[in-house]
Amino acid sequence: MSGDTVFALSSGGARAAIAVIRVSGPSAGAALEAIGGRPLPAPREAALRRFRTPEAGEPIDRGLCVWFPGPASATGEDVAEFHVHGGPAVIAALVDALAALPGLRPAEPGEFTRRAFEAGRLDLTQAEGIADLVAAETEAQRRQALGQMEGALHRLYDGWRARLMALRASVEAAIDFSDQDLGADPMAAAAPDLAALEAEIAAHLDDAGRGERLRAGFTIAILGAPNVGKSSLLNRLSGREAAIVSTRAGTTRDVVEVRLDLAGWPVTLADTAGLRESRDEIESEGVRRALARAADADLALVVFDGALWPEADSRSLALLGDAALPVLNKSDLLAGPAPATIGGHAAHAASCLTGAGIDALLEALAEDIARRYPAPAVPALTRARHRQAVIECREALARAVAGPADERLAEELRVAAHALGRITGRVDVEAVLDLVFRDFCIGK
Ligand code: GDP
Repeated sequence: MSGDTVFALSSGGARAAIAVIRVSGPSAGAALEAIGGRPLPAPREAALRRFRTPEAGEPIDRGLCVWFPGPASATGEDVAEFHVHGGPAVIAALVDALAALPGLRPAEPGEFTRRAFEAGRLDLTQAEGIADLVAAETEAQRRQALGQMEGALHRLYDGWRARLMALRASVEAAIDFSDQDLGADPMAAAAPDLAALEAEIAAHLDDAGRGERLRAGFTIAILGAPNVGKSSLLNRLSGREAAIVSTRAGTTRDVVEVRLDLAGWPVTLADTAGLRESRDEIESEGVRRALARAADADLALVVFDGALWPEADSRSLALLGDAALPVLNKSDLLAGPAPATIGGHAAHAASCLTGAGIDALLEALAEDIARRYPAPAVPALTRARHRQAVIECREALARAVAGPADERLAEELRVAAHALGRITGRVDVEAVLDLVFRDFCIGK
């Protein structure tokens, strides 16, 4: 562990009633005494103090401070917290006072959490859970991040790793015995456990990417011919005027995006340029981007014009693939009854003018996402880093099962356990640390 003491503003950067500045490391207690006066407050109890500059004794603010002596602290080190008035000048004065103290320096992004990891307070999946909790925008994201921070993935991966190591030990013992011709079959003893573990790991991988999708968000592209009401639909669905609505065809030349919370799922709704041949270079570029966005999107809302129905735009019909929902807009202008299906997909009739059918469409979207990404029985995989390691683990297990029951079997079990150890940070830590803490904010 590093010998220096770090500090950072841990509350948000914006002006607020209260700001929290955190200090962690061997000089945290001295820093608290230098600024907040002696004696140190009782551990883990808030104390009201006047904070002063250490040298000149100039008053900075009056506020609360808390003293968390290590190792029973967030980082495992001595930690001090200053709760001051959240104005920029107060924060600057306190930060300057800390910077002037010997042995103190500003914290790097994620350094508090990294120190907690290095002190063994949490594993890497829990550290990642903290970052996700700070970043969570929706309820489902918050729940997933909280579970991970509280050790759901840690227990899952560590549990599998422990079983693999036990299997490896029993296989090695059996191999030793078979050398002595006792007739023990190393594979026979391990086979049922191995098969069970393999099945659990396969189920974990075969999750349609729910956890990763929940972290990153879900993208829905709105597509269709010009003037069918794509921008109006974006506004209706998001409940605000985010895209320009105009009666002139071809006004949405770039891609306009809005973030939505759809039944707990973070959704990016992207309005795109109308699909049509155009001699206008900028509009053609818009159409190209629309199609690219559609290809990247998790789901496409393909919009048809109710005023023209039953005539349907052929380019739009061609977009009705697996991950597409047809919407028949301008239902207020429909000449006949609304069709149940368009292009073989259940159709949703709506009117952006009257608002009819919009709530039902939002519900259908939420159901569609829930159906595509069902909640798994075990905690969901949440990161590409984890997926890669779990795949390596499964591949080693497959080789173990398929190969001869000799030392190579034990070696593959070691490789499989090692892959899981990388996720939690038990092995090969240096290789992943920077990667894991790169996305943290300062003060966390
Ligand atoms: P986009 O080009 O597909 O993005 O279409 P816009 O959202 O710009 O809408 C084109 C025109 O259709 C505008 O004049 C809208 O006011 C009109 N419009 C959109 N939705 C409806 C609707 O549900 N009913 C009616 N009657 N007009 C609509």
